[in-house]
Amino acid sequence: QNLANKIAAGEVVERPASVVKELIENSIDAGSTAIKIELKEAGLTEVKVTDDGEGMSPEDAKRAFLRHATSKIKYDADLFHIKSLGFRGEALASIASVSKLTVKTSLGDEAGTMLYLEAGKMIRESKSDARKGTEITVNELFYNTPARLKYMKTIHTELSHITDLINRYALAHPHIRFDVIHNGKEIFSSRGTGNLLQVISHIYGMQVAKNMYHIKDSTIDFKVEGFIAKPEITRSNRNYVTIIVNGRYIKSQHLLHGIIRAYDTLLPIHRYPVAVLHITLDPILVDVNVHPTKLEVRFSKEKELTLLIEQMIRNQFKQSTL
Ligand code: ADP
Ligand code: MG
Repeated sequence: QNLANKIAAGEVVERPASVVKELIENSIDAGSTAIKIELKEAGLTEVKVTDDGEGMSPEDAKRAFLRHATSKIKYDADLFHIKSLGFRGEALASIASVSKLTVKTSLGDEAGTMLYLEAGKMIRESKSDARKGTEITVNELFYNTPARLKYMKTIHTELSHITDLINRYALAHPHIRFDVIHNGKEIFSSRGTGNLLQVISHIYGMQVAKNMYHIKDSTIDFKVEGFIAKPEITRSNRNYVTIIVNGRYIKSQHLLHGIIRAYDTLLPIHRYPVAVLHITLDPILVDVNVHPTKLEVRFSKEKELTLLIEQMIRNQFKQSTL
C-alpha cells in the first residue's frame, strides 16, 4: 500500500505546484466559495490550503487517505460522466506518502477532526475546531524521496509554476475567491465576484481587459463562451491562451492551434493572442482519464469543436472590421 502510494506520487506529485493543483481541485469539488493558499519557500517547505467547502466527517477524513478512496465515483459508468475535477482518489494518498501532512476538517456542526500523517502513516488523530471546511497543510514535501527533491528548481521557478496554475483556476472559477500568500506576503487575490473580465484584468492588466471581445456561441454538443484579445494585443508565447472545459483547466494542442489559426494573418510573426474560453459539454464527449494529472484531455468531436471556435473568432473579427 505505502509503496504503491509512493509510485503513484511519482506520477501525480511532480513538484509543489502539483500539490497545490490537487488540493485546490478538491476544494473546488467540495463547493468552496473561498480558497486560501499559503506557501513557504514556493511550497517546498509548506503548502497550506484552507477552504470553506463541505468538509469531511471523521470517518471520511480517514478514508480520504486510502488509495482509490474517492467519494466522487460510485459506479464504473460514472467514469464516462465526470463532473467533478477529481475522481481517481489517489491525490491525497500520494501527497501524504511523500510529505508530513496535517488535515483539519469539519462538517461545521460539531467538533472537527485533525489528522497528522508522516510518509502516509497515521501518526496522530484528535478533535479540532468546528469551523466548516477543510485545511490541509503539506510540510517538507519529498523529504523521504531525496531523488525527487534534487529535481526541484529554484524557488522562483517553482513559484512561477504555482502562480500560473492559480491564475488558470481563478480564470476557470471567477465565482471563487482565491488568495495566495507567499512567505507571509499576499501575492494574489481574486475577489470571486463571478466577473470573468475582472479576473482577466487582475491577471493580465487593464490594458488587456479593455481590449477583449466577448464571444459566445453554441451547437447541440458544445457551449463556448469567453474573451479573446483584439489582434493588436499580442504576447511572445502561447501561454496566454486558457482553455477551460466543464470548469477544468486543460491543454489541447488541437484547440490551441485552431485559435491561433483564426488569428493567422492578423498576428505578426512569433506573436500570440490572449484568450480565455469556457467550454461546456456533456462529460461523455470528453475523456479526462488520459493521464494522472488530468491536464490533457481527449474530445470525441475534436474537429467540430475546433471548427466552431475558429469560426467564432473569425466572425468576431469580420464583424468588428465592418
Ligand atoms: P479524488 O479527488 O480523486 O476523489 P483525492 O485523493 O483528491 O481523490 O481525495 C479523496 C477524497 O477526500 C475526495 O473524494 C473527497 O471525498 C475528500 N476530500 C479531499 N479534499 C477535500 C476537501 N477539501 N473538502 C472536502 N472533502 C475533501
Ligand atoms: Mg482530488
